[in-house]
Amino acid sequence: MAGDNFNPFRMAQEQFDKVADFLDLDEGARGLLRNPMREYHFNIPIRMDDGSVKVFRGFRCQHNDARGPSKGGIRFHPQETIDTVRALSMWMTWKCSVVDIPLGGGKGGVICDPHNLSMREQEQICRGWVRQLVRNVGPLQDVPAPDVMTSAQHMLWMMDEYEAITGAKYPGFITGKPVGMGGSLGRTEATGFGLIFTVREALKQLDIRPQDTIASVQGFGNVSQYAIRLYNQMGGTVICVSCWDQADQKSYAFRRKDGIDLDQLLSITDKFGGIDRQKALDLGYEILEGPQWIEQDVDILLPCALENQINADSVKKISSRVKIIGEGANGPTTPEADRVIEEMGIFNIPDFLANAGGVTCSYFEQVQCNMNYYWTKDEVLGKLDQKMTEAFIAVSELAQRHGIYMRDAAYVISVGRVVEACRARGWI
Ligand code: GLU
Repeated sequence: MAGDNFNPFRMAQEQFDKVADFLDLDEGARGLLRNPMREYHFNIPIRMDDGSVKVFRGFRCQHNDARGPSKGGIRFHPQETIDTVRALSMWMTWKCSVVDIPLGGGKGGVICDPHNLSMREQEQICRGWVRQLVRNVGPLQDVPAPDVMTSAQHMLWMMDEYEAITGAKYPGFITGKPVGMGGSLGRTEATGFGLIFTVREALKQLDIRPQDTIASVQGFGNVSQYAIRLYNQMGGTVICVSCWDQADQKSYAFRRKDGIDLDQLLSITDKFGGIDRQKALDLGYEILEGPQWIEQDVDILLPCALENQINADSVKKISSRVKIIGEGANGPTTPEADRVIEEMGIFNIPDFLANAGGVTCSYFEQVQCNMNYYWTKDEVLGKLDQKMTEAFIAVSELAQRHGIYMRDAAYVISVGRVVEACRARGWI
């Protein structure tokens, strides 16, 4: 989250400025794309379970919708800021563009900590968020989705509120809904699986077999868990995973040199996603400080938590053995760290490409909602693999052709497509 010296929006703008220079964009294009086209700030008053009223601050940013309706998740987080939401909305524009789906970029948030809220209170926040924005979101304008600390249940409450207000059924209003209620099979797995599809392609390119690799993962949420599962299925071994501990308000890393056992760790994980340290010790795991996930002597690093995790300080701790970084999180690497990673010759799969599996599957969910006909899980994951692989190959070919860093190549493709759409519409 935005804090101390780190501002994700400045970082997103810095990344954009670099590609704008590379593409030699004019002032009009820069002015349009450096900031969200629209943003909404609002209060959501909630009657709490104890009868008191508490007011929560909500946001929605629509960065650009030249290629289609804005698309992006809603985060619930105590340290959410408007600059975080702005940055994430911009990254959503590039994300939808790099995988070439007909959607723009948006992001929303509410400053709140779901750990301290009952389900009823969370439901009220979801419904309140929709009531504030009902005229500005919708299947043809801006389509929300889950993100950090929001789930299929939250999406369903939001859809229900939207349908109650508009008086019709709009399953395409929001994605990430429960299966059977307009959700798509494979949506839960999509971001983590998509990340590993791109890691698989990077390994192919480096001529390394997955079964000869070990990895360290930051985070133990939805993205990380499914990434570990597919990476394991491909033969890879995760030796370290870090996990947030809600009670201690810090993270710990769980290391087992012969490989962590995902199902075993899940069986000792509480409802807040924290792993029981005593039980882990009994099962042969070493417990390290959370930030040590990055220091591990591994081939692959998968940051799957929040932004600003690989920065000027932590980048120095990356082992010279690391060959690939797959950014499951949004904005995990700062521009200073990026320069070091590039110098180290590490193959970086940039966030808005690596974690585009979620929104790609959201797009498939919309398509299925529109047809009112739902595909099998294999169909969904097969199409996802195809989309992710095509996007990866386009980016890596451009990177090779121009001898540029993967993030820069991904930006050139994404920003180029968005600029083209804005020009074709006569906006710039
Ligand atoms: N929140 C996810 C992301 O950051 C998914 C967005 C979506 O499905 O619209 O990509």
